[in-house]
Amino acid sequence: MTPPAEYDAVILGAGAAGLFCAATVGQRGGRVLLLDHAGEPGKKILISGGGRCNFTNVHTAPDRYLSANPHFAKSALSRYTPTDFLALVESHGIAWHEKTLGQLFCNDSARQIVAMLLEECAKGGVELHCGEAVRAVEHADGRYRVAFGERMVRTPALVVATGGPSIPKMGATGFAYDLARQFGLKVVQPRPALVPLTLPGEEALFRELAGVSTEVIARCGGAAFREAALFTHRGLSGPAILQASSYWRRGQTVTTQFLPGREEGWLRGAKRERPRSTLRKVLAEGLPDRLAEALCERLGLSGDLGNLADKALEKVEQKLARWPFVPDGSEGFAKAEVTAGGIDTGGLSSKTMEARNVPGLYLIGEAVDVTGWLGGYNFQWAWASARAAGLAIPFKPSLQD
Ligand SMILES: Cc1cc2nc3c(=O)[nH]c(=O)nc-3n(C[C@H](O)[C@H](O)[C@H](O)COP(=O)(O)OP(=O)(O)OC[C@H]3O[C@@H](n4cnc5c(N)ncnc54)[C@H](O)[C@@H]3O)c2cc1C
Repeated sequence: MTPPAEYDAVILGAGAAGLFCAATVGQRGGRVLLLDHAGEPGKKILISGGGRCNFTNVHTAPDRYLSANPHFAKSALSRYTPTDFLALVESHGIAWHEKTLGQLFCNDSARQIVAMLLEECAKGGVELHCGEAVRAVEHADGRYRVAFGERMVRTPALVVATGGPSIPKMGATGFAYDLARQFGLKVVQPRPALVPLTLPGEEALFRELAGVSTEVIARCGGAAFREAALFTHRGLSGPAILQASSYWRRGQTVTTQFLPGREEGWLRGAKRERPRSTLRKVLAEGLPDRLAEALCERLGLSGDLGNLADKALEKVEQKLARWPFVPDGSEGFAKAEVTAGGIDTGGLSSKTMEARNVPGLYLIGEAVDVTGWLGGYNFQWAWASARAAGLAIPFKPSLQD
C-alpha cells in the first residue's frame, strides 16, 4: 500500500479564508492541499454582495466585530488591512467602487474575486480538491492524518477554514466546531447573525407592511445603526435590522428611531405651522404613506394636529424616537448572513490563529468567534485571519524543495 501523501499544510474549506490562506502558504513555498466538500470553491463569495462581493470595508476596526474577547481580532486585522486587500484586487485589474459607509464592491462580478483567489493559489502551486467530504482527522506523532474520499494525507499543519453553519443549503456545516471539540477547544454557542428578525402575531399590523422600507436608527444591546429598515411578511429586515440582529438575544427589545434627525419639538412646530394638517400627513412627509398610517393607528391618534395637545405630540415624538419591537425570533441559520459565536478565541493565539494546546492546528475565518458588522467586515476578517495563519505555518526544510 502506498504511504499517505505528505503536505506542509492541509487546509479544510475552500471558501474566502481557506483560499487566501492556501495561496499565502503556497507562495511561501509550502506544499499545500486545499479540500472542500462542495463541488466548487468560494460559493459564498459568489453570492455575496448581491453577486458583486462587498470584499472589504475601509472603516475596518476591531470595534466593528463581536466576540467574547473583543481584543482578539486586533492583531490579525492590524497586520492585513483593507488597503492590503485592495492592492491585491487592483493588481488583478478588478474594477471596484465604494458604495456607501466604506463598503467596497466589484464593479462587475464576485466571480472575479474567486478567480483572483484561484489564480493566487495556482501561483503557489496549491492542490485544490473539491467534491469530497473529509471523513476523519487524527493526530499522532506531530502529524495530522486527514481521510477524504478514498485518500489519506499527512501534514504537520492543519488549517480549519470550514466557516459556520449559516445558509446550510450552500454547503455550510458545523464541521469546524466538531473538529475543534475533538481537539479539546471550546465553542461559544453559535447563533444566527445578520439575520431578519420575526415579529409576533400581535404585530400583524406591521407585518402587513411587507416591502415598505425607511431609514431608521436601530438600537439593540448598546449598538446603534442608521440605515434602512425593511418590513417583511415575517417581521423586520434591511441593513439596520440585520446589524442590530447580531446584538439581539431572545427577549430583548430592538428600538427603531423613525424619522432620525428631526429636532426635538418638530411635531409641535408642525402643529403651529399647519394646524389643519393631520398627523398621518405630517408623518408621511418623511415616511412611506402606509407606514405613517400604521404608526398613527398604533398611536391611536387621528384628526387635525391643531386638535392634539402639545403634551400628546411630545409623547408621539418620544415614541417615534424609540419605537420598541420585541421580536419573537429570527429567520435562523437558513437566512443568516453569518454565524456569531464559534470557536472560542481563548484557546487560540491571536498572532498565528494556532490552537494554544494543539500544535499545528490553525483555525481561521467565520468558524472562529469573531463576527463582523454588515458591509465587508466579515470578508476582511477572513482575509486577515487567513493571512496571519498563512504566514505563521512553519515548514520542515525536507518538504520545501
Ligand atoms: C448571502 C451572503 C452574502 C454575504 N455577503 C457578504 C459580503 O458582501 N461581504 C462580507 O464581508 N461578507 C459577506 N457574507 C459573509 C461571508 O460570506 C462569510 O463571512 C465568509 O465567506 C466567511 O469565510 P470562510 O472562509 O470562513 O467561510 P466560507 O466562505 O463559508 O467557506 C467555508 C468553506 O468550507 C466548506 N466546508 C464546510 N464544511 C465542510 C466540510 N465538512 N468539509 C469540507 N469542506 C467544508 C464550504 O463548502 C465552504 O466552501 C455573506 C454571506 C452570505 C451567506
